[in-house]
Amino acid sequence: MTLILPDTSRAVVRDLRRLLGADLVKDDVPTKTAYAVDASIYRVEPQAVVLVESEHDIAATVTYAVQRGIPLTPRAAGTNLTGSAIGPGIILDVSRLNRILELNNDERWVRVQPGMVLAELNKQLACHELLFGPDPSSGDMCKLGGMVANNSAGPHTIRYGAVKDNVQAIRVCLATGEWLNARAYGLDDPQFAGLLSTHAPLRGVLSLVQDQAAVITSKRPTVSKNSCGYNLFGLADGLTRGQFDLPKLFVGSEGTLGVVSEATLWLVTKPKATMTALIHFLRLEDVGEAVPHLLELKPSALEVMDANTLNLIGRSKHGIPPDAAATLLAELDSDNGSSDLQDQAARMATICRQYRLASDPVLAFDQDQRDQLWKARKALYPTLYRFDERKKPINFVDDVVVSADRIGDLIRYLEDFFQAQRVSVAIFGHIGNGNAHIVPLLDVNDRQDFEKMVRGYHEIHQTVLDRFGGSICGEHGDGRVRVEYVRKMFGPELYGMFEQVKRLFDPSGVLNPGVKISDRPFTDHIDYTRLSKSCATCGKCNSVCPVYDVFQSEDMSSRGWFEIVTAKDYSYLNSKRVVEACLNCKSCRTICPAGVDVSELILQKRAEYPNRIAGLIFTLHAKSVVFEPILKLLAKSQSIWDRPRIRRIIEWFTRPLLRGLSETAKLPFDMVLPRLAPRHLRERHPGLVTKEGLRQSPVAYFHGCAANYFDDGVGDAVIAVLQKHGATPDLPPQRCSGTPIETYGHRRLAKEGARFNLKSLAGYKTVVTGCASCTLMLKDYPMLFAGEPEQMAAEALAKRVQHISEFVAQSAVHPPTSVGQGGRKRVTYHSSCHLRAAGVTKEPRQVLATLPGVEFTEMQDADRCAGGAGTYLVKDYDTSQKIFDRKRRAIDQSRADVVATSCPACMIQLKNGLRGKVDVKHVAQVLQEAYEEADGKDVHTR
Ligand SMILES: Cc1cc2nc3c(=O)[nH]c(=O)nc-3n(C[C@H](O)[C@H](O)[C@H](O)COP(=O)(O)OP(=O)(O)OC[C@H]3O[C@@H](n4cnc5c(N)ncnc54)[C@H](O)[C@@H]3O)c2cc1C
Ligand code: SF4
Ligand code: SF4
Repeated sequence: MTLILPDTSRAVVRDLRRLLGADLVKDDVPTKTAYAVDASIYRVEPQAVVLVESEHDIAATVTYAVQRGIPLTPRAAGTNLTGSAIGPGIILDVSRLNRILELNNDERWVRVQPGMVLAELNKQLACHELLFGPDPSSGDMCKLGGMVANNSAGPHTIRYGAVKDNVQAIRVCLATGEWLNARAYGLDDPQFAGLLSTHAPLRGVLSLVQDQAAVITSKRPTVSKNSCGYNLFGLADGLTRGQFDLPKLFVGSEGTLGVVSEATLWLVTKPKATMTALIHFLRLEDVGEAVPHLLELKPSALEVMDANTLNLIGRSKHGIPPDAAATLLAELDSDNGSSDLQDQAARMATICRQYRLASDPVLAFDQDQRDQLWKARKALYPTLYRFDERKKPINFVDDVVVSADRIGDLIRYLEDFFQAQRVSVAIFGHIGNGNAHIVPLLDVNDRQDFEKMVRGYHEIHQTVLDRFGGSICGEHGDGRVRVEYVRKMFGPELYGMFEQVKRLFDPSGVLNPGVKISDRPFTDHIDYTRLSKSCATCGKCNSVCPVYDVFQSEDMSSRGWFEIVTAKDYSYLNSKRVVEACLNCKSCRTICPAGVDVSELILQKRAEYPNRIAGLIFTLHAKSVVFEPILKLLAKSQSIWDRPRIRRIIEWFTRPLLRGLSETAKLPFDMVLPRLAPRHLRERHPGLVTKEGLRQSPVAYFHGCAANYFDDGVGDAVIAVLQKHGATPDLPPQRCSGTPIETYGHRRLAKEGARFNLKSLAGYKTVVTGCASCTLMLKDYPMLFAGEPEQMAAEALAKRVQHISEFVAQSAVHPPTSVGQGGRKRVTYHSSCHLRAAGVTKEPRQVLATLPGVEFTEMQDADRCAGGAGTYLVKDYDTSQKIFDRKRRAIDQSRADVVATSCPACMIQLKNGLRGKVDVKHVAQVLQEAYEEADGKDVHTR
């Protein structure tokens, strides 16, 4: 059947909207751009995207696509490396189906929807001491639907197996639109007989596997893992046990046989203690020799990084000795506790010391230290994007498997191969399974490099098959990239059976065409333009993007925005909806292993269309002689106008003005506003106020706007804390640091203020901040003035900026502290995004945790945006509240009395969202209280 081509897209979208409702179907330019990519090297633009929210939506979409012959590609997080979640027709995104449906603690299984992120699942299971074992390194972002469809695995496969070993049942929508509960059925089970009578494809597959069991078994790969082809081997195994083990067929089928709406997964008990070791070997051969001995200890993970990989990620940055030829990352779990582990760790060290090591093994038992050891490994692939402007890590032979005892030989062969080609390559992977990830750095736009890629593709895959008897695919799936080689891997007879299976389930060829079973060359659809850009499309930023968290749609996500704003056909007007949706929280920048700053790209695009109303407001704001009296008047009359009835009127008449800021902007009558100060901070501390150039103290306090204008005690607390630490600060003249101004596209205005601040703050030894956004902005001035005369001054200032928590953490003065009259308080910390982006994460926690009156508790999601983000609360109140929902749940769970933070917008958001149920304080206020309690003073913070 001929599949419908993209140019009929309007009719398709109209039909789908009629079937599913307008909100679930998208086909605008930004949406199609964002969904044209996954984490592979390919690009295919769809006609439409459907954001399904129920099984009804799935079945209706599948039925429609089959009837009309339109290609349909299921998609979860789009982090696959093979091009399997992109397609030319309808993308069926399951991300909004993201709940746990049932958890059975005793029998240790969970029934879960396909849009749930693995890390989220495990976070929820952790409260029950349970865990889903398979752990791809992309676990922070990949979703269960994609993991099931790809038969994903990861570093801990040697202990827990791949997904196929951990699935009890899945529910699949077939091309007929019918639902199949795929579990292992006994061949004599009456339910199975019923199933066979209703589902013809099952009858076909059963007789195929029964007839061809011998051929199938003879072709089974002899390595420990394989995700190439359909898993007819699992079905053949099932038959020998008297079962038709249906999940084995669907796991790893990459959306080519049906769409999964839920999966029942086996769980394991979380280990009681874990030890991670990093071992640097001087000789690669020794790694190969050590592995069998280390495997005797039954490690839960055994990972390798070769010398090139270590060079590429930067040895000094990760403390890797310059002469290490390979590094092993090994992990041991204990179900009994840490004493067991000490013995095991000692045995591991003894084994390793028999070889020539570049340094003594690093052993980590503590979670933080262990996370640090894993960090570089987990982010390895996107990190390689930092290495070269032109040559990018290209995944085309990325997932081969050989037997574990031959992995040393394989690495040696690969190093020689790429050396002969003069190509830098990173070779790393799950050595315990013999699974190597091979990522050469190439410029595919360069003819020679392109040819090297094609040659390497054929030569390496063939060598893995012929010389090593391995598999071309361990865990990443076939997708578009290996599709050309599936036939070569299994031979025409078995490949013919795969084709037969595909035809049985998908006779019209609508389900994910071009993936897994196809004759197309792997070079079809390579995205040459994107492969010269800086983003690895790994999707890691989506996992922290608060907008994505709410909308679960790629066009409303950090990765999607990178694609959209860097596309050739980008225009502000066709993409305004999405460009204006970013909170500028910078979470994407903080997490991106490739060093991409999506928020900055968006600010640049907004700067092309500065917001007029915001421009007027900020111009007025800069004229303090006019602005401040207005604010004071508002402060003095707040008790009158800040009443629900009057606020309703204010909400109504400010609406037209705010619409000029954004379509969604409003000042809701029930939003808790901060109290404005009738006397500003500078007036309350006249002795500290200095004129430009007249310094009284080596320390300046850059209070910013909120601490000056709000009556919340934050500015006073920062000053009091500084004084307790022996520093009476100056309050030099200052203008808005620039964050909110930039957010509305007024870069010129922001720079004007920044120039003023650079001059005013010059000469101070330390510039202390209390506001998270001011801290980041001052530290970011070098970026604002990159290549301009002010850059040097900006760099000098950035080095001298310290958040109050950093100042206290580093202070040699230790003022007495005491438990407050109300006894110890349970305090949790909300880590403001801008402070995280400024690199200040440990200090606030550290200073809080050391206070005697504080029982510090870390809350879940402490590092996630709360949705305040400058003026976003006003710009899009409804979305900001949806973002806050997650934070509210985390605070509730923490059972804290106080949430401490350090950003005025976060404080407004927290106070508005918590409505007095939990106290909200600045970190400086918690400190001030502890100091004043020790002094026996009344506590002043509000
Ligand atoms: C940095 C990085 C590290 C990685 N590390 C690993 C690793 O260690 N191990 C590993 O195995 N993989 C790894 N991957 C690859 C990838 O993350 C995994 O394969 C992951 O499980 C894919 O999940 P996803 O939600 O992104 O799926 P997607 O990419 O959205 O989809 C993958 C496949 O599943 C299909 N699919 C999705 N949902 C459904 C559904 N509901 N029904 C039917 N089919 C569906 C899609 O059509 C597609 O064929 C890594 C990727 C990156 C970027
Ligand atoms: S911006 Fe960074 S984190 Fe986001 S997809 Fe690109 S490389 Fe990955
Ligand atoms: S700045 Fe925040 S909202 Fe904007 S793209 Fe990055 S993570 Fe998303």
